[in-house]
Amino acid sequence: MTTQEVQAARRMLDAARRVVVVTGAGMSAESGVPTFRGEDGLWRNHRPEELATPGAFQHDPKLVWQWYRWRRGLVAACEPNAGHRALSAFRARHPETTVVTQNVDGLHQEADRLEGVGPAVSPVLELHGRLFGDRCQGCHRRTEANRTPDPDLDATLPRCDDCGDLLRPDVVWFGEGLPRSVLETAVDAARTADICLVVGTSARVQPAASLPLATTGAGGTIIEVNLSPTPLSRRARVTLRGPSGELLPELLGP
Ligand code: NAD
Ligand code: ZN
Repeated sequence: MTTQEVQAARRMLDAARRVVVVTGAGMSAESGVPTFRGEDGLWRNHRPEELATPGAFQHDPKLVWQWYRWRRGLVAACEPNAGHRALSAFRARHPETTVVTQNVDGLHQEADRLEGVGPAVSPVLELHGRLFGDRCQGCHRRTEANRTPDPDLDATLPRCDDCGDLLRPDVVWFGEGLPRSVLETAVDAARTADICLVVGTSARVQPAASLPLATTGAGGTIIEVNLSPTPLSRRARVTLRGPSGELLPELLGP
């Protein structure tokens, strides 16, 4: 990575009126949260695509809950990295910036808290829900989840206090639709942004992968930060190859 490319991207961000930032699992990799497509994404030899589906939950809810309890325990021990912190601090200085994340780990919000991001800044748009939330399959009531799950619970299934139906994690699974109003707000933000900064996403999960194209479709440009090339790379004006925890502080720092 040359400093020249980072400097060019910084100048573009300085000149922008509105910025949208689309983040994926790579954003949290340096915090210790495994990405799905990396080698450490496997759990007991299952691929996430086999577990994060409505069909898997119907077939074997215990197995799916065991996986989510494992992920909750893992993520509860993680902290925002320098990339999350730099992005939150940037938003505190540029409140017109919108963050759209595919991550369910809540680390952007945690970084917002640490950086003192105030109410003038629009909340992070979570396209795929949240890991630390439960939702009732029957009455759809949402509740907060325990951050440090009890391993003894592995033998049982959590149930709704109101209607007794099965609880499920409040996340969007493969094959499910995204929360409509969140997606609409995200598409609006992408369309009206001068720059879409795409960080740590393989750009293979739709519709999130198309958000940067809403920016270019309306005349804006893409800046990509990723360890490796993605289907979006050839459409990006600037591609910064490297870890987001190192590049974002250089790119977004004061
Ligand atoms: P992905 O696993 O498909 O891709 C991760 C991308 O990040 C890759 O392109 C990789 O090259 C890049 N990357 C890895 N480490 C990086 C780093 N340090 N700096 C910069 N880039 C890095 O992730 P995705 O595109 O977000 O799609 C996976 C789906 O899985 C999403 O829907 C998401 O909801 C879910 N998921 C979420 C989390 C989380 O909440 N942290 C973790 C895993 C998966
Ligand atoms: Zn219920």
